[in-house]
Amino acid sequence: MKPAPFAYKKARSVDDALSLIASEPEARLLAGGQTLIASLNMRLSAPPLLVDINGIDGLDRIERSNGSVRIGALVRHAQAERDETIARTAPLIARALPHIAHPAIRNRGTVGGSIAYADPAAELPACLLALGGEVIARGPAGERTIPVDDFFKGLFETALAPGEMVTGIRVPAAAETSRFGFAELARRHGDYALVGLAASAAANGRGLRNVRLAFFGVASTAVRTRAAEAALGEGDVESAVAALDLEPADDIHASGAVRKHLAGVLLRRVAAQLMEPRA
Ligand SMILES: Cc1cc2nc3c(=O)[nH]c(=O)nc-3n(C[C@H](O)[C@H](O)[C@H](O)COP(=O)(O)OP(=O)(O)OC[C@H]3O[C@@H](n4cnc5c(N)ncnc54)[C@H](O)[C@@H]3O)c2cc1C
Repeated sequence: MKPAPFAYKKARSVDDALSLIASEPEARLLAGGQTLIASLNMRLSAPPLLVDINGIDGLDRIERSNGSVRIGALVRHAQAERDETIARTAPLIARALPHIAHPAIRNRGTVGGSIAYADPAAELPACLLALGGEVIARGPAGERTIPVDDFFKGLFETALAPGEMVTGIRVPAAAETSRFGFAELARRHGDYALVGLAASAAANGRGLRNVRLAFFGVASTAVRTRAAEAALGEGDVESAVAALDLEPADDIHASGAVRKHLAGVLLRRVAAQLMEPRA
């Protein structure tokens, strides 16, 4: 199918993009286009104006400062996958990236697009949640940072206000004691996950503290399972599995019961990764 007619404007700066989206309440930002263009072609959405942010300088930077790493909204998945700073300071993200779709999609898809789109089965929102990071947004009132625990509100729904855009994300840089785990199950490599788990913790002697478990593909957003986090902090993997308070729905890919069972399988795998000394 072909998309419904739309106007197209290329933003020269973040301010330019913000004023263009302010001029048309139904306008949509165009980043990598990997989701948006497909939804236009299928006529699932018909915005009158697309505001192309691809030419905006500075949004494709990856910078480390003051114990954190800032990843610009226009950083492509493939760019992040090859980036040394991310490999060293945000290894959970580095581990998750190869699971996102296929190379052609990773060449165009952006970090900001993935976070703003908030697909409940996507890897990056779950990594951001597991890392306790934040979203950096700009809008008519200026810049604000939104802690990830407050950002994902529901199915494809975020805390972004009308007229705001994501300019980047920030995550704490990995420390000596940081531990990470990632696993997902998909029918074929590159498909959206049936169930996935991104996790972080700090080594505490032979145990763990500050455990954050972020499951994806099991609810309307990526979700933390706090009772399981507490049990894992006590070193009790089977109690953590028993404490999983997930209630995934049935869909055409798997029943909720299968998904819940797989969540337990992933939790055991990820718990083992968290307990390994870091390479
Ligand atoms: C076949 C296929 C398989 C895929 N598989 C996976 C997968 O396994 N895992 C996964 O995580 N993803 C997957 N994706 C999604 C893809 O990887 C991108 O992450 C996703 O398309 C969003 O990034 P984008 O830059 O393409 O955004 P776009 O398609 O350009 O935009 C998506 C939405 O976000 C909005 N938006 C974009 N940037 C911003 C911004 N900076 N601020 C505010 N709003 C913004 C747009 O207006 C639009 O509503 C898949 C896509 C395809 C086509």
